[in-house]
Amino acid sequence: MSTRAPLLLTPGPLTTSARTRQAMMMDWGSWDTGFNQLTASVCEQLLTIINGAASHHCVPLQGSGTFAVEAAIGTLVPRNGKVLVLINGAYGQRLAKICAVLGRSYSTFQTAEDQPTTADDVNRLLRDDPSFTHVALIHCETSTGILNPLPDIAQVVARHGKRLIIDAMSSFGALPIDASQVPFDALIAASGKCLEGVPGMGFVFAHKAALAQAEGNCHSLAMDLHDQHAYMAKTGQWRFTPPTHVVAALHEALLQYNEEGGLSARHARYADNCQALLDGMAALGLRSFLPAAIQAPIIVTFHAPRDARYRFKDFYERVKAKGFILYPGKLTQVETFRVGCIGCVDRSGMQAAVDAVAQVLREMEVLDI
Ligand SMILES: *Cc1c(COP(=O)(O)O)cnc(C)c1O
Repeated sequence: MSTRAPLLLTPGPLTTSARTRQAMMMDWGSWDTGFNQLTASVCEQLLTIINGAASHHCVPLQGSGTFAVEAAIGTLVPRNGKVLVLINGAYGQRLAKICAVLGRSYSTFQTAEDQPTTADDVNRLLRDDPSFTHVALIHCETSTGILNPLPDIAQVVARHGKRLIIDAMSSFGALPIDASQVPFDALIAASGKCLEGVPGMGFVFAHKAALAQAEGNCHSLAMDLHDQHAYMAKTGQWRFTPPTHVVAALHEALLQYNEEGGLSARHARYADNCQALLDGMAALGLRSFLPAAIQAPIIVTFHAPRDARYRFKDFYERVKAKGFILYPGKLTQVETFRVGCIGCVDRSGMQAAVDAVAQVLREMEVLDI
């Protein structure tokens, strides 16, 4: 049994640096100007990453990432709006479920879990049904790791005069998105993914004009991003109790993000992690589910070994005992498992995880890979 904290090779919560965890050792008052400056600085830095200061507000929200997705849809889609939901995995399904629960009209367009949605698909769908007001898209669908072609889809949506809502939870901070080039009403991400903060808050980059028009849309008091933003703009404070330690950790994580070299450096490290993982697993005979061209360097889905001696639970526990937390698969048709490439980890950590997997497969006498 390893005595060190395990490395989380998951899509969040993920491994954070000691410095980021250390930033949570202080208590902050929510009225304190020091804390409010921390929040303002976090929002400003987040807007810089996406080149969105001129066009968008950054509205932070307490809770996990899904809370922010639900808040964005509830706030920005009017009650008589209609959403085209693009689906190729579980997080796309969740977008549709949010629309259903909130009582917003929607239609879904679903492709296979290894098929990106294309701009041509979206063009055809919007042409055939002009009643759509919004399109909702997952950038990197974390249930497989597939990358959807956001810039092309965003251009088509804009050309039809429709509004785009993007769940970029698992890509923001690592894959480039430029708000001055990619038109969108809302882009949603969270503290505990590629920024390597701790989980506990989401944030929505909301187009300024769209947010200004959204007063009264929301079905919920706590999830109303228009109110959240208006209150914060007026007072500098969060509307309700802020996740103070999460904000402090994210602030510290952003300092390290910039020290590392910002988005391009974060992207390069994750791409290197992903390649080390793919190469190492391929050498063991383990096949990845997605072709390289549509694989985002965020999380990789692997086919499970065919051998009857393989059981995910046993495999997971044994790999964990060697210091690495993997993630179960999320596909309905094929048995898989997933390994994240994100978090405070580099190629040597990925290689060590591959070595642990190799040892475990030997221990389990799994031969038929
Ligand atoms: C992590 C993630 C979310 C948010 O999930 P939570 O469990 O609510 O944090 C949403 N969408 C995608 C694509 C994600 O990867």
